[in-house]
Amino acid sequence: MSYQSIQHVLKTAKSGTVVTIKGWVRTKRESKNAVFIALNDGSTINTIQAVAEAGQLPDETLKLITTGACLAITGTIVESQGAGQAIELKLDTVHVYGPADPEKYPLQPKRHSLEFLREIAHLRPRTNTFSAILRVRHALAFAVHSYFNDNGFFYLNTPIITASDAEGAGEMFRVTTLDATKPPLSDDGKVDYTQDFFGRETNLTVSGQLEGELGAMALGKIYTFGPTFRAENSNTTRHLAEFWMIEPEMAFFELEDNMNLAEDFVKTVIRYALQHCADDLAFLDNRLKEEEKNKKKEEQSELGLLDKLQFVISNEFERLTYTEAVKILVNSKPAKKGQFQYEVSWGVDLQSEHERYLVEKHFKKPVILTNYPRDIKAFYMKQDEESDAAPGRTVRAMDVLFPGIGEIIGGSQREDDYEKLTARMQEVGIDPEALWWYLDTRRFGSAPHAGFGLGFERLVLFVTGMGNIRDVIPFPRAPKTAEF
Ligand code: ATP
Ligand code: MN
Repeated sequence: MSYQSIQHVLKTAKSGTVVTIKGWVRTKRESKNAVFIALNDGSTINTIQAVAEAGQLPDETLKLITTGACLAITGTIVESQGAGQAIELKLDTVHVYGPADPEKYPLQPKRHSLEFLREIAHLRPRTNTFSAILRVRHALAFAVHSYFNDNGFFYLNTPIITASDAEGAGEMFRVTTLDATKPPLSDDGKVDYTQDFFGRETNLTVSGQLEGELGAMALGKIYTFGPTFRAENSNTTRHLAEFWMIEPEMAFFELEDNMNLAEDFVKTVIRYALQHCADDLAFLDNRLKEEEKNKKKEEQSELGLLDKLQFVISNEFERLTYTEAVKILVNSKPAKKGQFQYEVSWGVDLQSEHERYLVEKHFKKPVILTNYPRDIKAFYMKQDEESDAAPGRTVRAMDVLFPGIGEIIGGSQREDDYEKLTARMQEVGIDPEALWWYLDTRRFGSAPHAGFGLGFERLVLFVTGMGNIRDVIPFPRAPKTAEF
């Protein structure tokens, strides 16, 4: 049986044409004269209402048409009599693919809490909110690929299983085929990983950057877009154990070029979502407004979702150094009144409360912070010349901070000097031997280069206006959470 998507029917609808649509019942309503069935197939947030005359459908069929049931409906497009939709279907035939026992089907046509929906993540894509989020997520992913393709980047697939534990040691998930109850031991009593599948200790990747740099030093401009794993036991609304990261890496880019790219990239993909997901974003905008009404006046945000997205794409991000930001924070009202949970002074890693103060209260727009103290950043970041402007040594790092999110992008110009890089590795206790292949790029044809990592879910969080990162990925992985 051929059929059309609801999105297509709504876009091309002509009164009098006969169409077949297939989808899941959102609501069924019976009046004295007619039965109204609202059907949604996921192609759009909108439903099509099919209308059958009273008595047209046999009782045993009617009984099966309840919220959640899957149907095919064939009917004639007519101008709608009721409010809320332009067209409807005058039902001709209906086929029930699969009923959904109303006593047992957990999704009823009412507002369910996000917490409850997380417990039924296998069904939540059938709600308006989650189908909208998933369509926006798709559009953003598509926009990411087209942005890089349009700008001369090559999509590089870096490994998911890695042997390098240089980054994020202790936060990695081990990959092994050894028997967990009786692993082979070497003489010193430690697990003998030479007998493991890869003949060495391996983990799930925390970042594709190191391999990404190898690609950039051959192809010029590359990006990765793949799953990333972090075993950090932080139960926050911004961290997942499995998330998708986008990591462009560019030969010949310095810090300033890196910032320009990050800003243009984020704005372009947000603009794409605004253009291609208008219905879904309007729905999410509305949803947020309803939520805001339940908040205290002083906690309500000044801008709605659509206004906020427009604001971000039409204003320049504020750029300043870490050192300048710390000055602002030290002199801020919350610091003086002791309202920050964590104290701030030059050299500390900024906490989310500090980042959000800068973005939401001080500048009231996205901020790019640069030139962080080298002791709180990774070994591979390019070292700044010593400067009077900062109390200690800094590196050419950049973090992009967004309202409601905090850090959305972390990146840097990379250290391209072999001597400086190996010296720094030794200082922080990383054996240069273990990363000999990474260091080879600095030995053979080294050049300035830079890159960054954008957590895809943090971007989706921002664009959809949702509050918890577990609600913007279909099946979240977090501490004690891996059901679906
Ligand atoms: P944070 O300080 O927020 O924990 P990070 O500094 O550890 O982040 P990076 O190593 O710089 O993060 O990773 C680059 C980007 O990946 C971050 O800017 C963020 O957008 C995203 N990201 C990092 N960790 C997570 C996570 N656990 N879940 C989702 N996204 C993440
Ligand atoms: Mn970071």
